[in-house]
Amino acid sequence: MDQTRALGKTNLQVKRIGFGANAVGGHNLFPNLNDETGKDLVRTALDGGVNFIDTAFIYGLGRSEELIGEVVQERGVRDQLMIASKGAHKEGNGRIELDNSRDFLRGEVEKSLKRLKTDYIDLYYVHFPDGKTPLAEVAGTLKELKDEGKIKAIGASNLNYQQLQEFNADGYLEVFQSEYSLIQRDAEKELLPYCEKHGISFIPYFPLASGLLTGKFTKDDAFDDNRKNNPQFQGETFIQNLKKVDKLKAVAEEKKAETAHVALAWLLTRPAVDAIIPGAKRPEQLKDNLKTLDVELTDDEADFISGIFK
Ligand code: NAP
Repeated sequence: MDQTRALGKTNLQVKRIGFGANAVGGHNLFPNLNDETGKDLVRTALDGGVNFIDTAFIYGLGRSEELIGEVVQERGVRDQLMIASKGAHKEGNGRIELDNSRDFLRGEVEKSLKRLKTDYIDLYYVHFPDGKTPLAEVAGTLKELKDEGKIKAIGASNLNYQQLQEFNADGYLEVFQSEYSLIQRDAEKELLPYCEKHGISFIPYFPLASGLLTGKFTKDDAFDDNRKNNPQFQGETFIQNLKKVDKLKAVAEEKKAETAHVALAWLLTRPAVDAIIPGAKRPEQLKDNLKTLDVELTDDEADFISGIFK
């Protein structure tokens, strides 16, 4: 499998399997995380040849970026790595609000640079729209930061189709990140075709549907993290999802591959999906997900798998 792709129309070359680092320091997202394990995850990613790491301010309110920055400095590998980060969340009065204003985003990029111990961020996304700042203006703020060399590529995340078009009014968008997996296919209607047409890389988040597509769950599993409130893990929807995953498991067995790897390999067959950023809580999971590169799906196999989850 071709292992490297350019991000959008940039010359930033990423390996197609990256690492989503929300469990590195993301103490506000997951219970019982440990900073040392977080750093080990980053070390394991680097040892495994990963060159694309996805973080955000909101993953631990800066802690994820700090831990990544420490390991990258310890290893002296900054120039070999593409770091993506995101901003829009503002802390204040004990609450988190969204802010896409020019002053706020410029300030956030400066803080991310310090936490990451670097003087540029390869890819910076506006994490969520704030519902008030015009999106073409937000893209303009990121273009300004790109022209100044503080960021190398412009990203946006969690926009609907209308917002995506507004953000890209001047053609600045290079990478779009949104939820997409075999379980959650909404992006296929408008978002993916738009990205394909405009040469924008689409990076799916929750590529394993938060672990559901690994095939490790049964109907008796209970959850104490954000899966507790995720409709895909509730009642009849959960049971139906497990049945579909069983069918995927059978495909994987026939190919002598793991279910998770087939689910991730399927994503890599989708147009505009230049790279994926599966998350991991433990280094073994991260290493395991890199085996996706050994799985080649024919067009017929990819279609068959699409059909299971339609
Ligand atoms: P994911 O990739 O769908 O699932 C990752 C989870 O699945 C892991 O934390 C682990 O959880 C389990 N897992 C992973 N590999 C496994 C393996 N080989 N065997 C068994 N279990 C395995 O979900 P995600 O990490 O939340 O999303 C990926 C990345 O997308 C994030 O890290 C983050 O960088 C990004 N993201 C972005 C947004 C956004 O708004 N832009 C939103 C969400 C995520 P357990 O061990 O607990 O089961």
